[in-house]
Amino acid sequence: MTKGNINVSVENIFPLIKKFLYSDHEIFLRELISNATDATMKLKHLTNIGEAKVEYGNPKIEVKIDKDAKKLHIIDQGLGMTTEEVEKYINEVAFSGAEEFLDKYKDKVDDAGIIGHFGLGFYSAFMVADKVEIITKSFKDEPAAHWTCDGSPEFTLEASDKTERGTEIILHISEGEEEFLEEGRIRELLTKYNKFMPIPIKFGTKEINDPDFTPKTTKDKDGKETTEPHKQITVDNIINNPNPAWTKQPADLEDQDYKDFYRELYPMQFEEPLFNIHLNVDYPFNLTGILYFPKMTNDLNIQKDKIQLYQNQVFVTDNVEGIVPEFLTMLRGVIDSPDIPLNVSRSYLQADGAVKKISSYITRKIADKLKSLFNNNREDFEKKWNDIKIVIEYGMLSEEKFFEKADAFALYPTVDGKYYTFEELTNAIKAKQTDKDDKMVILYASNKDEQHSYIEAAKDKNYEVLLLDSPIVSHLMQKLETTKENISFARVDADHIDNLIKKDDTKISKLSEEEKTKLDELLKEVVPSEKFMVQLEAMDSNAAPFMITQPEFMRRMKEMQQTGGGMFGMGNMPEMYNLVVNTNHELVNDILNTKTRKKQERLINQSLDLARLSQGLLKGEELTNFIKRSYDMIK
Ligand code: ADP
Ligand code: MG
Repeated sequence: MTKGNINVSVENIFPLIKKFLYSDHEIFLRELISNATDATMKLKHLTNIGEAKVEYGNPKIEVKIDKDAKKLHIIDQGLGMTTEEVEKYINEVAFSGAEEFLDKYKDKVDDAGIIGHFGLGFYSAFMVADKVEIITKSFKDEPAAHWTCDGSPEFTLEASDKTERGTEIILHISEGEEEFLEEGRIRELLTKYNKFMPIPIKFGTKEINDPDFTPKTTKDKDGKETTEPHKQITVDNIINNPNPAWTKQPADLEDQDYKDFYRELYPMQFEEPLFNIHLNVDYPFNLTGILYFPKMTNDLNIQKDKIQLYQNQVFVTDNVEGIVPEFLTMLRGVIDSPDIPLNVSRSYLQADGAVKKISSYITRKIADKLKSLFNNNREDFEKKWNDIKIVIEYGMLSEEKFFEKADAFALYPTVDGKYYTFEELTNAIKAKQTDKDDKMVILYASNKDEQHSYIEAAKDKNYEVLLLDSPIVSHLMQKLETTKENISFARVDADHIDNLIKKDDTKISKLSEEEKTKLDELLKEVVPSEKFMVQLEAMDSNAAPFMITQPEFMRRMKEMQQTGGGMFGMGNMPEMYNLVVNTNHELVNDILNTKTRKKQERLINQSLDLARLSQGLLKGEELTNFIKRSYDMIK
């Protein structure tokens, strides 16, 4: 037996390890299982290339709890270590790795979340154990070794009688860390970090129906049938799927395989994903994964199930901020890349060259996929548009490259359920909806019911009206207006339709200048000025006499501020509306010529209320008064 001292330069590393990464103690298990996996994969490689002349077989990794003795065992059937290798890899390499790690991060305890992603390696075992043993037998024809260390720099190394190839790590769980002796807790960790690791991981056993046994059915003398009970057998409880879908070739997978894998990733999700994108690249960086478009709601905050980041099938995190573009964090699925540096802060990550390339690769793949879905089955794409538009619109706003590509598949639906691309739209409306200043006006509504009368007015003129209702669409319109030539968006209720698309300036008013001044004064006395700006317009005599509008600019700025951005202070502005009064309408003429002031006021109030009613603005006491007044007028 050898006794020795681990070469300590950080004064006693063990207390440090224990104190360190307090919130991340659980990662020790991921580290040890990663090592066991590495050891098994290495053996596979050596047997493949003929360097290890042993049978590779069907190795597995076993995790075992010995609650009474307060021990946790991690056993693998990998390549094992000789005594010299333990000296080298555990006493020197692992130690110096851990030491270097601690040296680098000891001042960053606040960043524990980040540090946890980066392995502290074998020595993380001392975060939860006060004594650790390694019993290991190399695939080489050499005696097994038994290493013990009690959390001081001293260790012992002696021969062991272990005969099977592989390594067993025994953790003597320290006081205060007993949670790691609970079956439920260990199962939780294994499912969190190791659900898709490449080597089967056994945790206990389970009873299943024996597949080789067919229960016999017998008839008694009355003809009653009885079937004997199914034979049960005990099998290993394997907690992982060593061959998850993303590690396979897209050509080997059916649609159903992708759906099944989605269910495996998110067992609590009952809705099917809309479609998926298989990522698979090995140059200039290594990245595999499957991303899913789930059904999106218009509420940007409730997308819960997140994209999971793996490195070589080991779960790292479900916070992919900085790795995938922000608009894609609404998607679900898996990304696996060993090329993402995780031992750095998020802001550094965003500046990292490799990560930038990965991020733009993912964006490009998503754009390509959307384009091919659009080209291959436009009808289906249109059906899904409502559920995916939020991601696409968000992407168009936040990523210039995506904005350019999205021109080919971003859709603009009309209130009648027709879907245009931007180009198709402009071709369709160019002739009719270009105003006298040569500007093309794109009309839209945000709610078919609330803006019904305005939509009808626009349709009467043979104009197309889009239905744009996602929460960030005002930002997108702003962007389109500044990117495309000579277009502007106007919501149908932003003004009278003749004012939204002005064809010519000359409008003949039936009222004289004198009468107009009189009307203007009268209206201003009756209509509450803190809510409405009176605006006299000489319009078609068939157009509504009174109409309430909200100027496009003001409304849009308010909307934009509610969803971030826009003009400072606009969000707090009171609701202001224009009251457009059609001076060519008969009713307006009647108001002006009515004899008593009381009757004039009644007509104005009634007309104003009708205009409010058609905008959905008449509520509460004002609505009650309106109804009372209406009955008075008809009786
Ligand atoms: P890393 O895994 O990053 O190399 P670790 O501290 O986790 O660092 O492990 C140090 C070394 O110890 C490994 O590189 C490996 O050589 C050896 N080792 C650890 N666990 C095992 C194991 N289960 N089987 C064989 N070798 C192991
Ligand atoms: Mg390791």
